Amino acid sequence: MLDIHDCSVRSVFLIGNVGIKMTQPQRVAFVSLGCAKNLVDSEKMLGQLAEAGCAITVDESAADVIVVNTCGFLEASRTEADDIIAEAVANKQQGGAQRVVVAGCLVQRDKQAMLDRIPGIDAIVGVNNRDDVVRAVLGKPSSGIERNPDVFLSDYHPFVQLDTARLRITPRHYAYLRISEGCDQKCTFCTIPSIRGRMHCKPPSVVMAEARELVSDGVVEISLIGQDTTSYGLGEDPIEGGLAGLLRQLNRLDGLKWIRLMYVYPSVLTDDMLNAVAQCDRVCNYIDIPLQHINDRILKAMHRRVDRRATEMLLEKIRDRIPGVTIRTTLISGFPGETQAEHDELVQFVKDFQFDALGVFPYSLEPDTPAGRMPDQISDTVKRERTEELMLTQQEVAFRAADACVGTTFPVLVDSVDQDGHAVARHQGQAPTVDGVVQVARAGAAPGAFIDVRCTARENYDLIASPTQVSLPVLDT
Ligand code: SF4
Repeated sequence: MLDIHDCSVRSVFLIGNVGIKMTQPQRVAFVSLGCAKNLVDSEKMLGQLAEAGCAITVDESAADVIVVNTCGFLEASRTEADDIIAEAVANKQQGGAQRVVVAGCLVQRDKQAMLDRIPGIDAIVGVNNRDDVVRAVLGKPSSGIERNPDVFLSDYHPFVQLDTARLRITPRHYAYLRISEGCDQKCTFCTIPSIRGRMHCKPPSVVMAEARELVSDGVVEISLIGQDTTSYGLGEDPIEGGLAGLLRQLNRLDGLKWIRLMYVYPSVLTDDMLNAVAQCDRVCNYIDIPLQHINDRILKAMHRRVDRRATEMLLEKIRDRIPGVTIRTTLISGFPGETQAEHDELVQFVKDFQFDALGVFPYSLEPDTPAGRMPDQISDTVKRERTEELMLTQQEVAFRAADACVGTTFPVLVDSVDQDGHAVARHQGQAPTVDGVVQVARAGAAPGAFIDVRCTARENYDLIASPTQVSLPVLDT
């Protein structure tokens, strides 16, 4: 597996020319937008470009080709993607790059609208066609499907696209491992099933092979991702043991220290899965469980398959079965028809349950979804106010919980260290990029090492800590 973590962020660099022979390497600037699932797609495409002999650069002004891997999930992400694509096209029109390639969800969702909005794109690559990225970048014919721009877009959902030959853009010591593609849930606000298709799972042998490859590349922490990780192995092609079995297999992998479970769907989280989390010593006591709301009527309108009572029983069970568990959730504020009383119920729930971490998104109207067609859409102003109130409510909860950590000791994984030896690290209850961090002065350890620290203070959502003892570098284990 190739990686680029050691390269300076603003440098142009070449990667071994191991694939297609080119007289001159194409310099490719790659912009990755959106969530961890899209990031894995980006890493996979970067790996293929590198193997084809392309030089990857972070400097768009030095690039021959600019690739933008888009997110089309919410209106805000589409606006962001449009701006970045328009910038890339302007760069080309001013004599910079020679070619602009757009990939990802936005392409799959509505290519024509995107091409109408932003003329000047040279090639598009859908989510099921990421193996075509080299042809898109090199400007080769697109199998006669359509020209000008070159189109690599298919509705066919491959059983599974392997995530090998990745050029990772996460730090060397942690990585995302995608265990499935697509989603069989039918949440009324969500466009993902229409973009990514039905759920397909990687067989455990493939997941394990990828995990072994990541570990041999220096990874000590793997976050399992998928649109709905709990449904792993359910559905048309059942996999014996499902997610719980996979967690147990991963737990036996030498060299892997932390396994983190993301994107749990409430109604599919079974006792067996909870037991696996509780019993496997390398599986973090961490559950990321997007709940979206707590009011019964709203949950039903969202088609979430759980009600308030079932949700509360499940949350109680999680805390009961996994001592010291960190529970993270995400909520949607201002769903169509949400009354003030239903919003107040959600605020009170956040106060009462005391999540360890919580994200709130204002409802985003997605035209081709059942929720997008519902009456009584909430105004942007009210959505913003309600979102703000929920976030402030959680802030109080989070600050109180962080204050309670002062004086305690716990192990952390070092993510980065600056020139003064000041480390940014995470404890087991903090997932990369979405949660707070632990700042450790004079850590005396390199990225990828585990150290024991004592928490001395809180700074906003972050903890301040001092090392008590430095572990051996984990990469040697
Ligand atoms: S579980 Fe619901 S919100 Fe998540 S990807 Fe599937 S349909 Fe969308």
